[in-house]
Order: sequence, then structure tokens, then C-alpha cells
Amino acid sequence: MKAIVYDAPQQFHYRDVPVPETAADEVLIRVRTCGICGTDLHIHEGEFLAQFPLIPGHEFAGEVVSVGSAVTSLKVGERVVADNTELCGHCFYCKRDEPLFCENFLSHGVNIAGGQAEYIAVKAEKVFPFQNLSWQEAALVEPTACAVHGMDIIALKPGSSVLLFGAGPTGIILAQLLRLNGAAHLTVAAPAGPKLDLVSRLAADEVVLIDRADAQSHRERLLKEHRKGFDYVIEATGSPQLCEEALQYARPGGHVVVYGVYPANARVNWSPYEIFQKQLTIVGSFAQTHCFDRALAYLEGRKLQVNEMVTHAFALGDYRAALETLRARQGIKLIIQQD
Ligand SMILES: [Zn+2]
Ligand SMILES: [Zn+2]
Repeated sequence: MKAIVYDAPQQFHYRDVPVPETAADEVLIRVRTCGICGTDLHIHEGEFLAQFPLIPGHEFAGEVVSVGSAVTSLKVGERVVADNTELCGHCFYCKRDEPLFCENFLSHGVNIAGGQAEYIAVKAEKVFPFQNLSWQEAALVEPTACAVHGMDIIALKPGSSVLLFGAGPTGIILAQLLRLNGAAHLTVAAPAGPKLDLVSRLAADEVVLIDRADAQSHRERLLKEHRKGFDYVIEATGSPQLCEEALQYARPGGHVVVYGVYPANARVNWSPYEIFQKQLTIVGSFAQTHCFDRALAYLEGRKLQVNEMVTHAFALGDYRAALETLRARQGIKLIIQQD
């Protein structure tokens, strides 16, 4: 089969590799769509737990083409997505029922083979059939699952005011979930463009432009028009600068959510006195486990709109062009699509 294969950071080729063997408890999926996101740019650089050699791609959907001998829950021909995480079930954290911190955490497309290939073998227990989604929408189930996990962490109090930094695919999904789950007023701050237009149409009560050339303009507006501060401030861009300034927009007793994927060596300069005196709660949200079921419920129930998000679809052989387009911040959601 054809696949994108990394031999080392930044070193990948589109080449022939064997179709993966399917173990008794696995199914083989013919991949139809696989999203790419900022995490793939970090993986490209060898960051974010990446291990090589690696077939990237953690946001995949496709058809079941064969099932292992022990699999009874899935049939050939079913349209499915798969939770890309594999958890050991027996380490300290798994035994504490905190599998997100599994000491043997495996993740398809991060440290084991992912979906930027014609086929992928996945444990049947991680596979979720669906009916009511297009292939393009199905590529957004994994980002939605991460946003559902974010909502668990945020634990939003109904009637809250929320400031969300970022209108990328994750931000657009998170904004809709915030609106569905108790945000009385949602402000989204992001650079101008189609992403901000879409989040404005789908979920935001107010948008604030971030001018990359003038970091002061959005600060002045937020501090002037929201003097009391927000109940929740969510940083979903991965910008250390925005993460650093997030604290000042939280009201006393407020919450700051660190949601983006940041460079591992980035640092912020926070005032411990401000955290102490305002009695802030600062919390991180990382990836997801066991959120696919709820993500599909939102998407198949049409409570979340992702059908306008895919602006670019590339062939598998054009992975490099897809990465470059992502890096250039063009479009909204980029996917690899196979017929
Ligand atoms: Zn992703
Ligand atoms: Zn474990």
C-alpha cells in the first residue's frame, strides 16, 4: 500500500509499505479521510511524543475491510472512525482510572502507525461505526473528541462569560460546545479571516480581532470593554504570548484553561501574586481518552456543525503540500482524502 512514512523528524516519503497485519482483536480499515492539524506540524519536528519511523495521521475515518478472528462487534463494509489512543490498562494511572496519563500511552499517528496510509489496523474496541456523517465530517470526530475532553476539564458553570483565544478548527468546535453547555456570553479573539467569520456565525456572541502586527489593540479592547474580567479564559491557539496574557482577562475567582499545543521549551512569565490574590484556577487540557462516543453523538445529532470547516482536501501523495498549506495558515480544516 501507499503511505506517508517518516524515517526521522522532517524526513518523510510517500512510498510503498506492506499492508499492516491484523491481529485477532483488530480490524483493518481502508482510510477515506484523515485530517491534519497543528499537532502534525509538531510531529514533523519530532516533538509531541513522536517516535520514528512513523506513519502520521491521528484523525482518520474509513471502511472496515477485514476483521480479526476474535472480533464480533464490527462488520466488513461499516463506515467507522477510531479513537487513536491505546491504553495499557495495567499501569499506575490505568489502575487509578486515569488512562490519559497511561505510562504506556500509544497513539496512532504519534508513536504508532497512523492514518496517512491506504490502510490502518486498529483494535476493534477503539472503533466506532457511524451513519450520519460525510467522510469529510468524519475526519473531524477526533478534534471534536479532544474538545469534549476540554469541556470535561473546563467544567463550565451555566451562565458564565467566556473568552476563547483561537478560531482554528479546535476553537470553532470548542466555541460551539461552550455555547451548548452554558456560556451566557462567548467572546472569541483571533486574527481576521474565514475562521473567525465562521465561528462568529456558528457560536460567538462577540469577536475581537487580533492584529499580529499590533499586540496591543486586542488587549486594550478586552480590558476596556470587559473591565470585570471573564469567568473563564481559554487559550486555544498554542501561542505562549497569548497564554501569558490570558491571566489578566480572568476575573477574581476565575478560571484559565491552557488548551493549545505549545512548543515544549516555551515559557510564560506569570505573577504568582496575581494567581494568589485573584484566587485563579489554572488548568490544562491534553488530548482525550474515551470521548469519541460523545463526540459522535454531538456530530451525528447535528448539534455541532463541522460541514463548512473542510476548506482543503489533498491527495495522500500531496502530504507535503498539505503541511505547507497548514503552516501558511491557509483555509480552515485541511484533510487528506482518498477515493
Ligand atoms: Zn489533531
Ligand atoms: Zn496504562
